[in-house]
Amino acid sequence: PHDVARPVSAYDERPWLARYGDQPADYDIEFDDALDMFRAGVAKDPSAVALRYFDGVITRQELDELSDGLAAGLVAGGFSPGDRLAVYLQNVPQFVISMVAAWKAGGVMVSINPMSRARELSYLLRDSGATVLVSLESLYGEVAEGVVADTDVRLVLTTSELEFQSRDDDRLFAGVQRHRHEGTTDFSEFVAEHRGTVPPPVDLGADDVAFLTYTSGTTGVPKGAMNTHRNVVFTAQVYRDWVHAGRDGAIFGIAPLFHITGLIGHIAVSLLAPAPLVLAYRFEPRVVLDAFAEHRPAFTIGAITAFSALLDAPGFTEDAFASFTSIYSGGAAISPTAEQAFLAATGKQVHNAYGLTETTSPMTVTPFGSPSPVDPTSGALSVGVPAPNTVVRIQDDDGNDLPLGEVGEIVAEGPQVVAGYWGKPEETAANLPGGALKSGDVGFMNPEGWVFIVDRKKDMINASGYKVWPREVEDVLAEHPGVRESAVVGVPDEKRGETVKAFVSLRPGASVTEDELIAHCKERMAAYKYPRSVVLVDELPKTVTGKILRRELRT
Ligand code: AMP
Repeated sequence: PHDVARPVSAYDERPWLARYGDQPADYDIEFDDALDMFRAGVAKDPSAVALRYFDGVITRQELDELSDGLAAGLVAGGFSPGDRLAVYLQNVPQFVISMVAAWKAGGVMVSINPMSRARELSYLLRDSGATVLVSLESLYGEVAEGVVADTDVRLVLTTSELEFQSRDDDRLFAGVQRHRHEGTTDFSEFVAEHRGTVPPPVDLGADDVAFLTYTSGTTGVPKGAMNTHRNVVFTAQVYRDWVHAGRDGAIFGIAPLFHITGLIGHIAVSLLAPAPLVLAYRFEPRVVLDAFAEHRPAFTIGAITAFSALLDAPGFTEDAFASFTSIYSGGAAISPTAEQAFLAATGKQVHNAYGLTETTSPMTVTPFGSPSPVDPTSGALSVGVPAPNTVVRIQDDDGNDLPLGEVGEIVAEGPQVVAGYWGKPEETAANLPGGALKSGDVGFMNPEGWVFIVDRKKDMINASGYKVWPREVEDVLAEHPGVRESAVVGVPDEKRGETVKAFVSLRPGASVTEDELIAHCKERMAAYKYPRSVVLVDELPKTVTGKILRRELRT
């Protein structure tokens, strides 16, 4: 599929397509909406397992009933089609129940990073206009309680990591205590009260928004990417067919569910396949390795840093990954060295996949079972070939297609590209001109269709797959009375891939230490965002026009 106004290039023709696997290059999208996709899975085998959480088991039929109960309760409380339900949870079953329930009530799930602090949560709730919040009790007490009053949230459902399982194990749940906060409603009681009631039918369509996933950018203000039902169903198909997720057994949730990788590569594909999804509430290497041994999952996707942490964990043995048939790394670069180290330690190949929040996870994928090539010049491991139905282009700064092999910005068109940013038409027009996504990543495509990322146009910092945007950190630094100017950059880090470093110049007469500035940021932002080091300087290096020379600071 290509725009006739544009000269046809090799990117449109996709001459490499026939080479990869037995999958069609373009396929039909199987369901209009993700709720139909979920219901088809229930109908196939209602008694099959949908979710495993430690010793807890939820069947597909139970997931259907629990989400019916929640949706019926929401509707009874005035929740209407198009309304937003915000989820502020770790990897717990309540996440999936809330997501399906939001759709059953005709609404949109707003996915919130559970690491968000008050400043961030308050912005996300207000920007999305969410009227319902589902939160862990602990996160509510620490963070949300102080911010909901200034938002449109009318109903707060709180829950705990201890629900849906019965292991009273200190190693799993150290420090977790149940506490009901004033003004909140218990999630499970609310669901139980309405269980047995079926919400009124809703009319969802492929273009309706299934969830909002927040991603920041150069303006420092997070934007809610609108992932439509078409985006969700299509990308779930890519995971099932090209990535082999959910084909041979359970899916293990290593990535955080709030992130697009978890939403699609864990939840959506588990609903489509259908296959059980195993959740372990948070990434703790010992707990994850125990869960591998207990539940014998067949597929997972996560940042390579998570896999490396498992290889280094005390309980790791060479058969830790024995039950897996398909393993993918995504969200951050994986070096050929890390890929080889994983193979040597586990006997398994990690496949590389690449995408953004704005491509609803996959844009390019290493087809299951194919070895990915390495670019001899940059040493980069390929991020795969374009997903089906997808045109990936390499363009110059003026938006012209470059010849195959030349380095430029990676641009994507296809059924996974989001409909835009919630309430931000200007940012949508700038980043998604004509519905094509400008990724901000720089790379090239070889004649066989393999894509390689060699650089980045955007200022983003990638810390273990968690994205940090300098502007956001600089804005928080600017709130400190002693700070005159700051520039935040990413620097290489052995464990996290990249980490956050700030250069700060102080106001005349101010006496502030590096540690005070780190503490100032730590209090106001998610833990992965605050600068790990601060360097005080007299002046920041700038161009003659006053633009900060970030590249100079990185070296
Ligand atoms: P997010 O919106 O959090 O999904 O972040 C998307 C960004 O993560 C991309 O623009 C890339 O810079 C980076 N990324 C994702 N997958 C990969 C990969 N396989 N290799 C290198 N970078 C990646």
